Amino acid sequence: MRFSKLAAAYEKIEATSGRIEMSELLGRVFKQAEPEEAKRVVYLTQGKVAPPYEGIEVGMGEKFVEQAISIATGYSRKEVENAYRASGDLGKVAEKFVNERKQSGLASEELSVERVFNVLRKIAITSGAGSQSSKVKALAELLNSASPVEAKFIVRFPLSKLRLGVGDPTIIDALSMARKGDKSARKEIERAYNLCSDLGSVAESYLSDERLIRDVRVRVFSPIRPALAERLPSAEEILKKLGRCVVEAKYDGFRMQVHKSGERVEIFSRKLERMTPMFPEIVEGIKRQVGAEEAILEGEALAFNSATGQYFPFQMTIQRKRKHGVKEMAEKYPLHLFVFDLLYADGKDYTKIAYAERKKKLKEVLKRGERISIAEGREVSKPSQLEAYFEEALEKGLEGVIAKDLKAPYVAGAREFAWIKLKRSYRGELSDSVDLVIVGYYLGKGARAEFEFGGLLCAVLDENEDRLKTVARIGSGFSEEEMRELKGALDKIKLKERPKKLDALVEPDVWVEPKYVITVAADEITRSPMHTCGKSGEEPGYALRFPRMVQSIRRDKGMEDATTVYEILKMYDQQRRISWSNR
Ligand code: AMP
Repeated sequence: MRFSKLAAAYEKIEATSGRIEMSELLGRVFKQAEPEEAKRVVYLTQGKVAPPYEGIEVGMGEKFVEQAISIATGYSRKEVENAYRASGDLGKVAEKFVNERKQSGLASEELSVERVFNVLRKIAITSGAGSQSSKVKALAELLNSASPVEAKFIVRFPLSKLRLGVGDPTIIDALSMARKGDKSARKEIERAYNLCSDLGSVAESYLSDERLIRDVRVRVFSPIRPALAERLPSAEEILKKLGRCVVEAKYDGFRMQVHKSGERVEIFSRKLERMTPMFPEIVEGIKRQVGAEEAILEGEALAFNSATGQYFPFQMTIQRKRKHGVKEMAEKYPLHLFVFDLLYADGKDYTKIAYAERKKKLKEVLKRGERISIAEGREVSKPSQLEAYFEEALEKGLEGVIAKDLKAPYVAGAREFAWIKLKRSYRGELSDSVDLVIVGYYLGKGARAEFEFGGLLCAVLDENEDRLKTVARIGSGFSEEEMRELKGALDKIKLKERPKKLDALVEPDVWVEPKYVITVAADEITRSPMHTCGKSGEEPGYALRFPRMVQSIRRDKGMEDATTVYEILKMYDQQRRISWSNR
């Protein structure tokens, strides 16, 4: 397939914000593509050249991309730089300069999707001495053969700024459209994706033979998209929903999915990134304590003093996020893994099996040892028992509990009532914190002027529309160090205009690429005409009242992990139920 076809579709997608239209446009591309091409189109549309868990990023610094544009078009570096400063988008600069090129490429040929993909992949995996100049050369060669519109998108890949506003749900709809002409295959495609986390491969299988995706199986070393917890406000409601259930401690650390086959162990984060080198002590623990040849386990790792039974604060655990000193940290503050699920063992897929059975098998598979243990829990059948366990958990320094449906399978990639969390809540405070995407920031006034930072505009995810909606302007909860960190990180992803994926009625001083997630607490949820979360027609939207940041940039969470509009509406509803029952 010619790359010009994809670029033309991207051009139209960029100009629209309607999810249906976007999936139709992309669906047409899939319809014309060979299955293997469709796989590449999926990765490219995700801004990648491989499934996310392979950790291969195309990333190139702006300076190098500028250099490539300059080589390919004959404009000086200074001219490219100035044009970038004026427009804030190197994609548009490339489009303009390719259109008005001073020199035409020697070996210019029509670009195919395959060629563009292969060159980007080569750029991604080239490393070591002299790699920057070969990356620049490879990108310049692509630009040599590119039309203006092609150049615009080619340049955006290595900058990770595709700006299409297309998320996985829209890609899934587009695949269904390509084969069925409607969205009827969405559930099936999603299921396959949840089990293997590789939407490119799912697309390839689905478009070559739709029956193939029914055969997608859980496999060691291809991470399963994590199950998520629902919220309910009280022990009574939880028991009403689940009946007899198990309540477990809710540990506040790193969620990890551990895959093992023989002596090979890999650890994936909640975002499905490969994190193995950061946790050598857990890798060793798995080798010693997992009594299955092949297994996939899930758990939460945190700093824990096994001699005193004390959990160290999250701050201690999070230090491991630094790349340096892993070995020293692993010796000084080794993490402990509390395993709470078993998804696969020796050829058997446990995701389809009831939790009670999975836990039984987990107890068989895991040997006693100092590094790994099974998450504590207790079966309860009355609200008073659940409450007692909840109080015990808080006393031990945990953040709450998670109740689990003993009959439920593992619901990969979904937030369902198989798991229900209950967290500490103070009077006059929302019962749970929320995870929001930063979409802009305000400049500081008064005491904050020196940081040029005065707060954040944040959004939630609208899963139905595959868009972002604003829900809060956050002006407190930042330490000086956090303000500096936020400002530094956000300045690297400034945008000249509102992010494509966002619906907003308010405007911050500076828009930013929706990339970072923070955790926010608030007093309650109110109706607000200023915010687009849950807004329909003339009705007001929903907003957080007195929001404050409680955890700065969450490196373990991406935009897809943010709280959703649906969750905010449910929390609003629950809060009304509670205040009525307290009258
Ligand atoms: P939240 O991130 O607040 O939605 O809470 C769900 C998260 O709690 C999961 O993603 C896990 O990382 C974490 N967690 C801690 N302990 C458990 C447990 N026993 N079972 C399931 N999840 C747990």
